[in-house]
Amino acid sequence: MEQKENKFWETKSLKEMTKAEWESLCDHCGLCCLYRVQDGKTGKVELLAVACQYLDISTCHCVIYEDRFKIVPDCIMLSPHRIRFIKKLPCTCAYRSLVEGRELEWWHPLVSGDPNSVHEAGISVQGKVVTGEHTSLDQLDYFTIVK
Ligand code: SF4
Ligand code: SF4
Repeated sequence: MEQKENKFWETKSLKEMTKAEWESLCDHCGLCCLYRVQDGKTGKVELLAVACQYLDISTCHCVIYEDRFKIVPDCIMLSPHRIRFIKKLPCTCAYRSLVEGRELEWWHPLVSGDPNSVHEAGISVQGKVVTGEHTSLDQLDYFTIVK
């Protein structure tokens, strides 16, 4: 597919982006919607193969997106000045990549022009997780895509 000519993510800062541009940076990997545990001794955080119950695990889209902060109080609120301080974002996240001065990867939908490329590249949680409503704590497996 053809790349978009308007590569706004290369020319604008996060603060300068329109709402639509900002939203399009999310590649819908679903990684920030997973439950996580932290080792009390080492502090190491591990992602679990269990997603928030409102993540559609076939598309990796939030099914309550407009109301997410009302319904899920600990859902991450992203903003340009908060990105650096949000520990939950994986290194593959486009917001984090840009803040850290990295380019978007080839599989990012804005680069590839294909919304499925994030799934086909194995970056997203598609096919790898269950949702919180379908499991119990003693069934959890560790999900180790992100170190
Ligand atoms: S980790 Fe970043 S790119 Fe992935 S779903 Fe969350 S906000 Fe979007
Ligand atoms: S409410 Fe939506 S965006 Fe927030 S963690 Fe759940 S699925 Fe992800």
